[in-house]
Formats: sequence, C-alpha cells, structure tokens
Amino acid sequence: MKSINCADVLVMGAGPAALCITAELVQEGLDVQAIASKSPLEPWPNTYGIWVSELESLNMQKLLKYRWKDTVSFFGDGTSHKEDKFTRHCLDYGLFNLNNFQEALLDRCNGLSWQIETVEKIDFSEKQTAVICSSGEKYLARVVIDASGHNTPFVRRPFKAQIAKQAAYGVVGKFSYPPVEKNRFVLMDFRPDHLNQIQLKEPPSFLYAMDLGDGSYFVEETSLACSPPVSFELLKDRLNTRLAHKGIQIEEIIHEEHCLFPMNLPLPLRDQPLLAFGGSASMVHPASGYLIGSLLRRAPSLAKEIAKAIKDDPLMPTSQIARRGWKTLWTNELVQRHRLYQFGLQRLMSFDESLLRSFFDTFFKLPRNDWYGYLTNTLPLPRLFIVMLKLFSIAPSNVRLGMIGLVLKKKENT
Ligand SMILES: Cc1cc2nc3c(=O)[nH]c(=O)nc-3n(C[C@H](O)[C@H](O)[C@H](O)COP(=O)(O)OP(=O)(O)OC[C@H]3O[C@@H](n4cnc5c(N)ncnc54)[C@H](O)[C@@H]3O)c2cc1C
Repeated sequence: MKSINCADVLVMGAGPAALCITAELVQEGLDVQAIASKSPLEPWPNTYGIWVSELESLNMQKLLKYRWKDTVSFFGDGTSHKEDKFTRHCLDYGLFNLNNFQEALLDRCNGLSWQIETVEKIDFSEKQTAVICSSGEKYLARVVIDASGHNTPFVRRPFKAQIAKQAAYGVVGKFSYPPVEKNRFVLMDFRPDHLNQIQLKEPPSFLYAMDLGDGSYFVEETSLACSPPVSFELLKDRLNTRLAHKGIQIEEIIHEEHCLFPMNLPLPLRDQPLLAFGGSASMVHPASGYLIGSLLRRAPSLAKEIAKAIKDDPLMPTSQIARRGWKTLWTNELVQRHRLYQFGLQRLMSFDESLLRSFFDTFFKLPRNDWYGYLTNTLPLPRLFIVMLKLFSIAPSNVRLGMIGLVLKKKENT
C-alpha cells in the first residue's frame, strides 16, 4: 500500500456540496485532496431549482438556465376544476444550468484534480486522518470533510431516527397539450380533483411543474416527506392520472427524474473528528428539501474557519480542527432553527391531503419575506418564531389543531 503526502484537507465527493466546499478551501490557499467515486466533470443527474433572490444575493444569477416570473401554486378546494383559483408567489424561480454551475465551481478549484476512488474506511489519529479506498490506496489529511451525500456510512449521528424521505417522479418531455401555462412555473399544484376516495386517504403528493420553452415541460409528482417514502410507482401512477384527468398524454419522454432523499436526518454529532458538508451534514432544509442555496451561503465561513485553525496552529489535533468546523457549520442559532423546522415537518407529516393543502394555502398568505425566509432558512431565530406564531394566528382552526399535534392524537385514538 503506497502512502501519499498529508494534505491540509481531504474532501470526499464530487456533487454540489463537495464542489462548493472544495472551491472555498482552495480559495483559502489550503492544500486540498479531493476524492470521489465519479469524476467532477460527469454531469450531475438531478435538476436543481432555486428562488432567484437566493442567487442574486450571492451575485450568481447568471448560473441559471431558466428563470420564471410567473410563479404560482394551486391549492384548490377539492371540488372545483377552475384554473383561476391560484396563489401568485410574485418571486422569480429558476433552474440551474448544471454545466455552468459545475464549471464555475471547478474554476474556483484552480485546476485541482480529483482522484476517482471510492472511500471504504476512515482511520483517525491525533494529528491526521487516513482515508482508505477500495483500490487499497491510502490518503492522508489533517482533516477530512465527508461530502459524499445523504447515505454516508461515515458520519455519526446521536440516534437512529425514523427517516422521512422526499420522493418524486418527474418527466421532462413533450405533451399532447401544455400541462402548464406558457412561461409559468408551478411550485405546488395540490388540486386533488383527479383523485378517488381511496387515493385521497393515501399520503398526499403535489405537482411541481414548469414550461421549459420550445414545446417541452418538466412535470414532477412530489411527496414532501413520508416514512416509509411514497414509491416511484405510486407517484408515476398519480402523475399519469393527473395528466389524464386533464386529457393530456405524454408524447415524448426526454428525461425521467427519480428523486429520493431524507428530510429529517438527525444532525451529526458535533464532537466527531470527521467533518461533513451537504447532504451528509443534514443540511437539507427539513421543510422544503432545498440545499443548494445553503451550500453556497455556508461554504465560505466553514472554509475560512478551517484555514484559520490550520494556519493558527500547524500542530492542532484533527479533532480540534473538526470541532471548530462543526461549530461554524452548525452554530447554536442554526441548530435551534433546524429543531423548529424538524418540529414543523413532523406536524406536517401527520396531515392528510386536505389539511396539508389548507396548511400551504395559509402558509403562502404570509408576507412574502416571511415565507421566503422560512423556505430558504434565512430568517434569524427570533423572526422565525414570530413567523411561526403569525402562521398559527392566521390559520383556520383545523390547521391550528394540526399544528399543535391534535390531528395526530385523533388518528392514534381511532
Ligand atoms: C432528484 C433530486 C432533485 C433535487 N432537487 C433539488 C433542488 O431542486 N434544489 C435543491 O436545493 N435541492 C435539491 N435536491 C436535494 C439536494 O440538493 C441533492 O440531494 C444534492 O445532490 C445533495 O448534494 P451532495 O453534494 O450533498 O450529495 P450528492 O449530490 O449525492 O453527491 C455525493 C457525491 O459523493 C460521491 N460519493 C458517494 N460515496 C462515496 C464514497 N464512498 N467515496 C467517494 N465518493 C463518494 C458521489 O459519487 C457524489 O459525487 C434534490 C435531490 C434529488 C435526489
């Protein structure tokens, strides 16, 4: 087994999280070793959407491929087929140009090359960490950042939770009739008109859809969070039923998307000698499933803190560097906010179809800065509390009962 020089930081992964944090570490002048099972040049398989303001606040809006001004949701009343009952979000939404996004991040990595390897084992010692790959190759670094996604076996968490997953089945394609109005983005179409009484009792799902121009559309049937997750078969069936109800057939499938990721992974233990970033660090927003904005906002401070720790004291033990990193990534404020979001998600998961629809209808009646701040995790903790109280105060009584957990109790007692 050949041993390699000890890098300052080793990053595992080549997804959005790995590229975001590696770019910032390189910019800090650190010696970075990057390892991933797949090349960072390989196209990412997912479509990534984001509220444009999140990118504008980082001056990165040029990374979008699509941008919609007409952004709406439908919450219906369960009986009406009317198209006119919708909520305007009055906020632009976009989809990333993944090539440009990957390239922009790789540019900031200053030509760093990735070792294409799968990490199998990580050994910690006081001053360095050894990463052993399936090829038998061993790499050394002062500290390791696991950015290998939600399913990492390496990051330790305090307990095993029942994991709720967001699941979605989507199609980019051509349709016999437009499934979405021209130039429109639909965040949530919760209208249940196409569902029968049995389907209405199954875990709820909504349509996430957009006009991609040149006659193609992206339509995705999405279950916000469920344990066990809603199956792809059920979501596909729902999508087809929804389209058929409107007399729409899929004429050509250009791309199919299967989306499955955890929404309520417990936060990692913050005294472990391994750092993490992205899905592996439970950074997915528990209320919305969004991650990318958070990666872009939080990578610079984490990289700065690691650089400071390593440069301040060349002999600093690995566990101390990692601890400083964890404290920066998951500040007390962010931990408290995460708990509130987890609490909110837990409540939502007990809601049936009609209650969930009613909840989101109320949610988007909040002032725009409030719901936007909630969904992007950009509200300071006191403000987040106030927004949650405000939501409670304007919600109809059945939603209020749900928010304090009485729906769950009612279900359990029956
Ligand atoms: C279909 C789908 C759509 C999504 N849409 C959005 C969206 O619109 N907006 C949003 O904000 N979020 C979205 N998400 C959520 C989240 O942003 C993604 O899950 C995101 O890909 C997570 O990024 P990551 O870099 O942490 O992990 P991943 O993208 O999963 O990348 C993990 C990387 O680690 C590598 N790796 C794994 N194991 C090892 C190993 N043992 N050794 C070495 N390398 C390894 C992999 O090859 C890969 O390069 C979506 C998720 C999915 C699944």
